[in-house]
Amino acid sequence: MTVSDTRPMVSLRSVDKHFGDLHVLKNIDLDVAAQEVVVVVGPSGSGKSTLCRSINRLETIDGGEIRVDGELLPEEGAALARLRAEVGMVFQSFNLFAHRTILDNVTLAPLKVRGTRKAEAEKTAMELLDRVGIADKAHSHPAQLSGGQQQRAAIARALAMQPKVMLFDEPTSALDPEMVGEVLDVMTSLAKEGMTMIVVTHEMGFARRAADRVVFMDRGQIVEEATPAEFFDSPRTERAKSFLASVL
Ligand code: ADP
Ligand code: MG
Repeated sequence: MTVSDTRPMVSLRSVDKHFGDLHVLKNIDLDVAAQEVVVVVGPSGSGKSTLCRSINRLETIDGGEIRVDGELLPEEGAALARLRAEVGMVFQSFNLFAHRTILDNVTLAPLKVRGTRKAEAEKTAMELLDRVGIADKAHSHPAQLSGGQQQRAAIARALAMQPKVMLFDEPTSALDPEMVGEVLDVMTSLAKEGMTMIVVTHEMGFARRAADRVVFMDRGQIVEEATPAEFFDSPRTERAKSFLASVL
């Protein structure tokens, strides 16, 4: 095998993060292979969002290192903008631009950051909107869409930058229950198509179906890493057992 065959797409080494006195990420080591789907679960406050945000450098870490496709996260400037473009992020709140159409939301970053030509950006955007099932909403504004449709638009927007990895931080937590499935379906398709994904979710059914690996976090640490079958059917630690008892 060559080096590129074995190099992880995302790699965290001894990552530490504090908020004041609060030690939020404690010596985190995590490798995510290309095309792997890692689902991160754990109690509220365990550091899952901070982990995601650190990979996108929305948070700076205090110690250790994070690499995306072998490259250390840049401090700032153009290199950081390039990194951000390679790491797509979808949040609990959809964060679409309210005064822009869905099509504009999806084309904005390719036009501004990548300098893609308008016709090409729009063609790609329409293909992506079709892929997430909302091509008919291209000329609507976010408020005219349901929550599930808005979140699918947010996924299309992230994909428009052709990211190497997609981070999802509780993408269905703000949705009405009847809309959760349509967003998880889009994520499941993405996973099947080979996207590298890190997904924070409380949707244990999705974790079981779509994850290659489940990472269980508690109080800033990775406490267990296992296949979904191992994690859900025979968790090793008391902390994982009590977490699962609370969510299943
Ligand atoms: P999770 O996503 O697992 O619920 P978070 O990563 O959001 O956990 O938070 C981990 C801990 O860090 C929590 O105790 C939270 O209150 C704290 N925290 C998160 N963001 C900040 C911040 N910007 N400033 C201070 N504390 C924070
Ligand atoms: Mg969170």
